[in-house]
Amino acid sequence: MRTETKPWLSKSRFVAGVQCFKRLYLMVNSPDEAAEISDVGQLILDQGHAVGELATRLFKGGVLVEEDHLHSKEAVEKTAVLIADKSVPAIFEAAFTYDNIHVRVDILERLPRDRWHLIEVKSTTSLKDYHLPDMAIQRYVLEKSGIKVGKVSLMHLNRQYEHDGKAYRLKKLFTLETVQEGRKPLERSLGLLINIMRVMLSKKQPPIVMPGDQCTEPFECPFYDLCNSGRPEDWIGHLYKISGKKFAQLEMSGIDSIKDIPEDFELSTIQQRMRTCLKKNKPFFSAALPEKLAELKAPVYFMDFETVSPALPKYKGMHPYDYLPFQWSVHVLSGKGAKPRHFEFLHDDATDPRKAFIEQLLAVLEQHKHAPIVVYNQPFESGRLGELADCFPSYAARIKRVQKRLWDLLSVVRDHVYHPKFGGSFSIKSVLPALVKGMTYAGMGVADGAQAGVAYLQMLSDDTPPREKKRLRKDLLKYCEQDTLAMIKIVEALRKKSAS
Ligand code: SF4
Repeated sequence: MRTETKPWLSKSRFVAGVQCFKRLYLMVNSPDEAAEISDVGQLILDQGHAVGELATRLFKGGVLVEEDHLHSKEAVEKTAVLIADKSVPAIFEAAFTYDNIHVRVDILERLPRDRWHLIEVKSTTSLKDYHLPDMAIQRYVLEKSGIKVGKVSLMHLNRQYEHDGKAYRLKKLFTLETVQEGRKPLERSLGLLINIMRVMLSKKQPPIVMPGDQCTEPFECPFYDLCNSGRPEDWIGHLYKISGKKFAQLEMSGIDSIKDIPEDFELSTIQQRMRTCLKKNKPFFSAALPEKLAELKAPVYFMDFETVSPALPKYKGMHPYDYLPFQWSVHVLSGKGAKPRHFEFLHDDATDPRKAFIEQLLAVLEQHKHAPIVVYNQPFESGRLGELADCFPSYAARIKRVQKRLWDLLSVVRDHVYHPKFGGSFSIKSVLPALVKGMTYAGMGVADGAQAGVAYLQMLSDDTPPREKKRLRKDLLKYCEQDTLAMIKIVEALRKKSAS
């Protein structure tokens, strides 16, 4: 139990404070107000743990400090024992406390002449500026505790690593990047920053901080909804691709609603269109839309892919974070008034899904070799097809022909349509309910692509009971089918609008 009166800090509290003082204050004083960790967030955390565990295997003879955060004192004592034992080459989760700041070091490697190499492990593929506070606070506490830190490094995944389908070659899978002196300006003002955080934490009220870029950079703040509630529906933050500079200009002028943006304020074409639609409370359909839709002559295909991007490559030929396509849905509209035919694929065992995915897809798409294929966000589907062509060169020519047939509904909607109910988003989840009455993704077991990836991995997991696997399979099939059905309905709705 901690009895100190000075507000204690940890690595995660310090990093939260660097992002935003208010975030730190709320984290300490109102933790229940934070958004719950989503399934997707949990997957990222689990991947991080798996990567961290794998990295320790590079340090043979290393010893783990098993005592958890509820046993900080014991963890610090155990660390001291391991430091004194010269036969220990590395310590995992080494614990240190200085001035009521508690840190755990992922890997502490023993160097010659009583110096230590502080290694932070991240499941990213490069060293980012937002990693620096994390390492700076560790170094500070270690040095104040009398540890000579000879080197500070980030160990991250190597995006170029190609998995051969066997055991990971750890020396190639990981990259050790040493933090250069020039990247450490924070360390010089660390003591001051810690004091400011503590003074702020001792206050009865949270600091006044206006929401801004810090709410979503580098990651969305768990208190986002708390700080951003009460915004008008047409809040300027929903303006399509608004720059930080323009947002600040409008905010400084006291403008909160898109409707209130003056006519002479410089906006992009889509932003101007949003303002007009909101002011008139009427949707916009461009005069060129009918011509664009006329490109879709029956038969027309509607196609959607689901993928997951595991940090650790799962199958031969994959690199960290490569997309793994595991599901598709295709609807085919043969002509006016015809009922759409549905085809689908969902790989549901632990083998590599890619070959069956592309073989079965090509068999369906080649039934009409010249028919357009409607997708929502063409670069995504085209990109995955390109990767499959690289992976299976014998299909490359056929895949290329399919790529040429793709027709992007997203760019058509973005360039030719706006509806006040889009809320500044052209995602199919926003566009569908605005244009098609009674159709929505709300309430679905799987309701977006990220959730689909998590559901797929859960479905494959040995820890998931058979009944749950069955439910996940059903939810996945329903979700992907809804995506292609949604495209049919959106095209239908646009055709009606442009004919009226
Ligand atoms: S939502 Fe923004 S302003 Fe609020 S605590 Fe988080 S980062 Fe700070």
